[in-house]
Amino acid sequence: MLYGNGQGVHYQREQFSLIDLRDFFGDVMKKNKIEIKKPKKRHTWEISPVTKIKESEKAYTRKGKKRYDSKKELECDFELLKKDYRYCPKCSAELVEKKIEHKKRKVCPVCGFVLYKNPAPATAIILTQDNKILLVKRKYNPFKGDWSLPAGFIEYDESPESCAIREAKEETNLNVKLTRLFDVYSGSDDPRTNAILIVYLAKVLGGDLKPGDDAAEAKYFPENKIPQNIAFAAHQQVIEDFYKSIL
Ligand SMILES: [Zn+2]
Repeated sequence: MLYGNGQGVHYQREQFSLIDLRDFFGDVMKKNKIEIKKPKKRHTWEISPVTKIKESEKAYTRKGKKRYDSKKELECDFELLKKDYRYCPKCSAELVEKKIEHKKRKVCPVCGFVLYKNPAPATAIILTQDNKILLVKRKYNPFKGDWSLPAGFIEYDESPESCAIREAKEETNLNVKLTRLFDVYSGSDDPRTNAILIVYLAKVLGGDLKPGDDAAEAKYFPENKIPQNIAFAAHQQVIEDFYKSIL
């Protein structure tokens, strides 16, 4: 089965056979002599230290009950957000540290889950008009008020190309066509996660430029007027590389 937008194709296997998590991680557990044991007493928070939302006011409450306002900006503790999971996201037992495949990783002593940490894939687009480059001003933290290329994280069921087109629409209201892959960058200055940034060159098909979603402004800048406050080092590098490429 294939899905995508015609520009980028996402391949998906027709069928997956169901596997038991314990079987799946069993070999890793055996190889690394991880003992299965009972979890320690679970610690729970009355108020989430990250979102500051009370347990009783969860984001997804039942009908009729007070709803969590998703429009309201969350006061996030980004340092805490970047920390590893403390409890198993599969079974909620407390994770322990073990050396697995030459690296210390957190593993679940109960179900065998291994926390592999990977950078999150994101896309950005380069849209230009008379050698001016389109930037958006960030409406929310991290780096609220700073400028970046129209960009965002790839959803789990999305191809990089679809993500780039979607983010362009959401942040700038422009319908774009990707013309080619520009380059791939890695970033480690986003407090939420390390990222792999896939950058495309694009052209406008239609739509009026106006900021939307998480952008406060959207504007074309000439090379000599690029703002000093670019949100991420990788975006800064993309802008520099782009202007070098058109010399
Ligand atoms: Zn577990």
